[in-house]
Amino acid sequence: MSDFSSFDNRYYIIADIVMERPLHIGRGASLEPIGTDLPVIKTPDDKPYIPGSSIKGVLRTQFEKYVRTMFSQNVKLNGKQLNACDILDEKNRCITVKKRTDFEKEVKQTYKKEEYDEKLTQKIIENSCTACILFGSHEMASKIYIKDAFLDNVPIKTEIRDGVAIDRDTGTAKSGAKFDYEIVPAGTSFKFEAIIENVELLELGLFALILKSWERGEIVIGGKTSAGMGWGMLKNIELKCVEKSDIIDFLVSGKKKPADLNEFVNQLRKKLKKEGDVHA
Ligand SMILES: [Zn+2]
Repeated sequence: MSDFSSFDNRYYIIADIVMERPLHIGRGASLEPIGTDLPVIKTPDDKPYIPGSSIKGVLRTQFEKYVRTMFSQNVKLNGKQLNACDILDEKNRCITVKKRTDFEKEVKQTYKKEEYDEKLTQKIIENSCTACILFGSHEMASKIYIKDAFLDNVPIKTEIRDGVAIDRDTGTAKSGAKFDYEIVPAGTSFKFEAIIENVELLELGLFALILKSWERGEIVIGGKTSAGMGWGMLKNIELKCVEKSDIIDFLVSGKKKPADLNEFVNQLRKKLKKEGDVHA
């Protein structure tokens, strides 16, 4: 079991995010006196980008949905039921403050002092949901890091669109209330880069399911999604890995081995089938 202080493996995933529909990732009101009401987020040299934290948030939400469906069907992986807690709600988190205090007491009573940290970590991992183990929680670091996705070198022109302000009380258009917002046009391509560290191979398979879903165009990012924005596809997915045994070559020359994402998905699929005790 990984204890997060050592290096077991690291996977690098690069791909292109190709927008099929326009994208709006806002950064709040414009600081410019004559700017648009809802500008898109940009680098200091004025190029739109997608913050890694936004991408990770979207992927986690989608992952949680899939995993909760598998939970309702009692799907197990290595004997443990797949699940996703509600990380934003203290009462529904997989590791609540009370649970953690109980674990601390139990481990203190059962094990020697020098085993305390290791046993407590083990206990927390055993009781954490699948989403927290992969994407991180209050208790453990994320295994997935997603970088900000910058433009693919091709210059693009953003566009300003007119919107109609909606009255929150009636749900209808406010008369005369207009605002405009900035969008990145369809066809724009961004570079996706993710690093996954100290991951078990089946966990990588689980993460790969989300990327495959995005590859099929099933994931929506950014704002104004109810207006049909934010749909795009992940293309040209490339996976490379550094195993523990290759660490010297990697540190000296940055050498990474190519790997196949589909292989991890296939391995996972076999396991889920074998252990998935699906009730109708
Ligand atoms: Zn959780």
